[in-house]
Amino acid sequence: MIAPTQQAVAPAPRTLPDHISPSAAKSYLSCSLKFFFERVLRLPAPVSPSLHLGKAIHAGLQAFHLARWRGGNDSPEMLASVFEVEFRRLEKEEGPVSWKDDKARTKAREDGLRVLAAYLDSGEAPTERPKAVEVPLDQKLDGLPVPLGGVIDLVTHDGVPVDFKSAAARPDPKQAAFDHEIQLVSYQLLVEGATGETPPSLDLVFLVKTKTPQVIKVSSPPADRQRKDRVVRMLETAVEGIVEERFFPQPGMHCSWCQFRKDCAAWPPSSRTSA
Ligand code: SF4
Repeated sequence: MIAPTQQAVAPAPRTLPDHISPSAAKSYLSCSLKFFFERVLRLPAPVSPSLHLGKAIHAGLQAFHLARWRGGNDSPEMLASVFEVEFRRLEKEEGPVSWKDDKARTKAREDGLRVLAAYLDSGEAPTERPKAVEVPLDQKLDGLPVPLGGVIDLVTHDGVPVDFKSAAARPDPKQAAFDHEIQLVSYQLLVEGATGETPPSLDLVFLVKTKTPQVIKVSSPPADRQRKDRVVRMLETAVEGIVEERFFPQPGMHCSWCQFRKDCAAWPPSSRTSA
C-alpha cells in the first residue's frame, strides 16, 4: 500500500520528446546539467563571442549554398553582406554577446569576413548544384523510442552530407571525426532514410580563424553496422536520460567555457547532506 506522503511526491508522468537531434544528444552526453540549464530551463546567459561568430558565419554559408542551389546571386559581396547583417541582427536579437571590448568585436567581425572569403577561394565550395541545403530530415530507427531529427547544412551533388564548423585552430582530423561521430553518423542515417543510398563519405569542413584563414575538410568513411549501432545507443542513452530527468554535473575541460558555473555550483537545489 502506498502511504499518502509517497503519493504526494509521486513523479509526474514522463513524456517523450518529439524527436532527438544529434546536437541535443551530444549536449546531453557532454554534460546533462548544462543541457538542463540551457535547453530545459532555458536560463538566460550571455552569448559567447565564438558562438555568435559561428552563427553569423553559418548564415553567410547558408545564403551562398542556397544561391548555388537556386542559381541566384552567389557573389562574394552577397555573402559578405549577409554575414554583416546577421552579425548585427544576432547581437540585437540573441545577445548580449560577452565581448571583451570593442576591439575584440571588430576582430571577430573581420575574422568572419576573412574565413568566408577563404571558403569561396578554397576548393571546398561546391561548384555543382547541391542536392540539398539546410534540409530538415527525420527518421525512425530500431532501438530509438523517438525519431532521429536533424538539419543538414549541405548535401553535395553526389550525396555527401557536410557540416561546417568555425574553429580557432587547425583541427586534428582523427580527433575531429571522433568528436563529431554522433552528428556524422546521424546524418548518414538521415540521408539513407531519405534516399535509400549510402553517402560516399561524411564530411566536416572547418573554417579556421587563424591569421591566414584556413579551410580544412575532414572526410570520414560511411559508418558500418557497428558504428551505427554505437551511435544509436548513444542517442538512446540521451533520450532515456532526458525522459528520466537525469541531470547532474559532469565536470571536465568543457567547464572552462560553461556559462552556468554559478548555477552548477548551487546543485543540487536542496542538499541531502547534513553538517
Ligand atoms: S560547470 Fe561543468 S559540470 Fe557544471 S554545468 Fe557547466 S559543464 Fe556541466
